[in-house]
Amino acid sequence: MSNAPFAVAVREVTFAYGERQALAGISFSVARGSVHGFLGPNGSGKSTLFKLLSTLVPLQQGSARILDLDLAHDTAAIRRRLGVVFQSPAVDKKLSVRENLRYGGHLYGMSGKALEVRIDELLVHADLQDRQRDMVGELSGGLRRRVEVAKGLLHKPEILLLDEASTGLDPAARRSMWALLKSQSAVTVLFTTHLMDEAAEADHLLLLDQGRVVAEGAPRALMRDLGEQILEIQSNNATQLASDLQTKLGVTASVFDDLLRIEVPNCHELVPKVMHSFGAQVQRLTLQHPTLEDVFLRKTGKRFVAIAKDKGSGGKSRRSRR
Ligand code: ADP
Ligand code: MG
Repeated sequence: MSNAPFAVAVREVTFAYGERQALAGISFSVARGSVHGFLGPNGSGKSTLFKLLSTLVPLQQGSARILDLDLAHDTAAIRRRLGVVFQSPAVDKKLSVRENLRYGGHLYGMSGKALEVRIDELLVHADLQDRQRDMVGELSGGLRRRVEVAKGLLHKPEILLLDEASTGLDPAARRSMWALLKSQSAVTVLFTTHLMDEAAEADHLLLLDQGRVVAEGAPRALMRDLGEQILEIQSNNATQLASDLQTKLGVTASVFDDLLRIEVPNCHELVPKVMHSFGAQVQRLTLQHPTLEDVFLRKTGKRFVAIAKDKGSGGKSRRSRR
C-alpha cells in the first residue's frame, strides 16, 4: 500500500475502557490535504479515537494506517509527522508567545535560524506578530488557542489532529483559529467538535454516535440528502396534533417531546392548511432547510443535544451555512 492516497485509513477499530466500549467498530479513510470533521455528542468516542490516532493509547482491535505507517508498530515515526492540539492547554502561561513556540520547536528537535524563521512564518499566519512578546497568560482564550495551533504546526506536520480545539471560544475567535488552519493547505486536518456550525468547516464529515459512524459525507450533501425542507411544529399537545394531522390531512409527523417534524416534499404547502385547521394548537411553526442536527436525528432517532453548554456556540446554530 505504498503511495497510499489516504493520510489515514482506519479499519474496524474497537476500543474499550474495561467494560465500557468507547469505539464499536469504526472504519473511515481520510484523503491527503482534506479537512475531516468528526461530529458527535459527548461520549460518542471522539476523544478516544483521537487518542488512538495520536498514539497516546495503544490499539486494541482493528487496524489503522497513518501516512502509510502501521499505527500498531510505527508509533515513533507517526508521532514525528503529526501535530496535535487537544483540549487541555499545552502552553506555558508564564512564557511569552515566542518563547512558547521556541520551546515547542525544541521538543521537535528544531533550533537556530530555521526555527526562528518558522516561528516568524506562523506568527504571521496566526496574526500574532504584535503579541509575540506578551505572556501567554495575559492573552484571551482565542489568542492562546492560536498559539497552541501554531505550536502544533511548527514542525510542519503532515497531519494535524484537533480535539474540540475551539471549545470555549466565541465565534470570532473560532473563525480566527480556522483562518490559521486554512492557511496551511498542505496539512491534512482531522478535528472533532460537538458544534454543528464548526462541523460545516469540514470537507468531509463523520457523524459519530456511541462509538459508531452513523453518517458520512460532505456537510452540504448530508443535509441535501434529507430533502428540500422540513416543517417543525411546536405544540403543547404534540401527540394529539400528530394524530389529527394524520386523520385530517393524511400527513405523517414524527414526535419528539413537544415537537412535531414533517419531512415530505413541498411541505411548505402544508403551512396554511395546518394553521387554518389547527392554529390554536400551534405554539411555533418553522420551515427550514435540513441542518446537520436533522441528519443526526434521522440517522439515530435522537436529537443532538450539545450537552456541554458551550458559551461559544452562540445558542442557536446558524442555518444552512456553506
Ligand atoms: P467524546 O470525546 O466523544 O465525548 P470519549 O471518547 O471521551 O467521547 O468517551 C467515549 C466513552 O468512553 C464514554 O462512554 C466515556 O465515558 C468513556 N471513557 C472515556 N474515557 C474514559 C476513561 N479514561 N475511562 C473510562 N471510560 C472512559
Ligand atoms: Mg471528547
